[in-house]
Amino acid sequence: MNHEELLEATDVWVSKERESSLKVIEHLVEIAKRGLHFERGSGSLFKFLVDRYHYSESAAWRRVRAVEACLKVPEALEMDMGVTMLALMDQLSREAKATPEKTREVMGATQGMPVKKAEEKARELFHLPPPKRKVVICAKEEVHQLWRQVKGKLAHLSDEQILEKLCREVLKDDAPQKVSKQSPDARIFGTVLRRQQLRRAQSCEFVSAITGKRCGSIHDLEIDHKVPFSKGGKTTAQNARVLCANHNRFCSNRGAP
Ligand SMILES: [Zn+2]
Repeated sequence: MNHEELLEATDVWVSKERESSLKVIEHLVEIAKRGLHFERGSGSLFKFLVDRYHYSESAAWRRVRAVEACLKVPEALEMDMGVTMLALMDQLSREAKATPEKTREVMGATQGMPVKKAEEKARELFHLPPPKRKVVICAKEEVHQLWRQVKGKLAHLSDEQILEKLCREVLKDDAPQKVSKQSPDARIFGTVLRRQQLRRAQSCEFVSAITGKRCGSIHDLEIDHKVPFSKGGKTTAQNARVLCANHNRFCSNRGAP
């Protein structure tokens, strides 16, 4: 299989996967209506999905939500929506305490959109505030103790307010940058130049030559030489670009920009 054939074959399987997961929802809607899960000894559809099909809790929840959406708006199954979208619609409709009519209207207005865009649009139509993002941080004991001390000291603030305060504190120090004393012949980018580059690009600058899509990841960013150091590229701002670790590895493995 060449690259193009591989991608096309995957497209086909992904669309089959979507189709079959919607078929599952369609059947679960019928099971829910008939109460078969109760009859088989599960206290809820969620429990039934975990017990009988061994779905993970999050996968089971997503399906239960999708079923709820279809029970509320039976036409939902014929709309261009995947399981994730159905589940999202149910969640937002609940949050907004919306009627089935309103929910149907929002589903219609957001169908075919990518999930993130659909959520924004749906929140707007349901008159809900923008979504809050979850921040989950795993920390070693020492850092956890520091966090507890900070929380104790700022007990009048919520976790969200404390995080905001800490972030603003850090960003406040963004004083104008010193002029870089970077030696163009050193292999490694110095701290000042690194910071300048990160501030300029803010995310991975890799752009696909095929799709024109820019990566934009903000994880594990590294400073890379556009013209490799080994091929005479200098360590200067002009020859610097920001890449995520994965794209940095991808570009150096491929030996091309
Ligand atoms: Zn990237």
